[in-house]
Amino acid sequence: MPTQLIDLIAPFRERLAAARRAGMRIGFVPTMGALHAGHARLVECARRECDFVVVSIFVNPLQFDRQADLERYPRALQDDVRRCTALGVDVVFAPAAGEMYPTPPSCVIEVGRVAAHLCGAHRPGHFRGVATVVLKLFHIVQPDRAYFGEKDAQQLAVVRHLVRDFNLPVHIQGVPTVREDDGLALSSRNGRLDAQERRLATSLYNALVEARRQIAEGATNPAAVRDAAAAVVPRDGRVRLEYLEIVDPEQLQPVERIDRRVLAAGALWVGSTRLIDNLLCDPK
Ligand code: AMP
Repeated sequence: MPTQLIDLIAPFRERLAAARRAGMRIGFVPTMGALHAGHARLVECARRECDFVVVSIFVNPLQFDRQADLERYPRALQDDVRRCTALGVDVVFAPAAGEMYPTPPSCVIEVGRVAAHLCGAHRPGHFRGVATVVLKLFHIVQPDRAYFGEKDAQQLAVVRHLVRDFNLPVHIQGVPTVREDDGLALSSRNGRLDAQERRLATSLYNALVEARRQIAEGATNPAAVRDAAAAVVPRDGRVRLEYLEIVDPEQLQPVERIDRRVLAAGALWVGSTRLIDNLLCDPK
């Protein structure tokens, strides 16, 4: 069966209601499109665990802190739908911005301390936009299970907090990061990198691996680990490390001492492209 493409909320809800009446468990994979093998991994998990699989493709203006990034964000709806058909997705929901926000929303989700560091500190309003659209999508889809990539660890943490704080009846499933052979995390933004930038882009993963190595070998001072990891990023005008922090994996607060499992997370600018990645690190 080819994937059904729906762009309006009302018929989408009817389709979901029919599936629910048939006793199907609904699995939901929210995305911004330009789908790659990382998204495919989420869909495969949903396909295994649910009866009816929905992928949303929506480049959510509310979560973009820079207009240029929103305008340049890759869009590939026809390819995405073909990919979803190959993956056995039942419905792709791809609303226009005006369908999701007929008027600017007057109610938004304020995200607390889980958004205070990492990307939250560098992208004002980003997680407010993420939490708001995820809540809207959850109300529209009412999924049994929703799938999020660990690559966006802070987003996953924000969604877990959202679900807990508002008693949302959905199971959140985190999915491990899919990487290229050299470690670069797959991202829709990777397509913007030219050949030189692509080579430089792996330095973010290499820096995180260095942090993990230091921690595994007994380093306990986060500032020292951070500096050692940052030193891995080449001195090159085309790259700039926006942040590299060592935080606790649930609340995403900086740790004073590394004496349990921590998350090393970073953001790297490569040319005009911003990439993020993270690794869990266990102490000696
Ligand atoms: P995006 O389209 O970038 O908003 O991503 C949609 C979902 O796919 C999010 O839950 C991401 O965390 C997840 N995702 C993106 N890249 C990867 C990857 N390389 N591996 C696993 N999941 C990913």
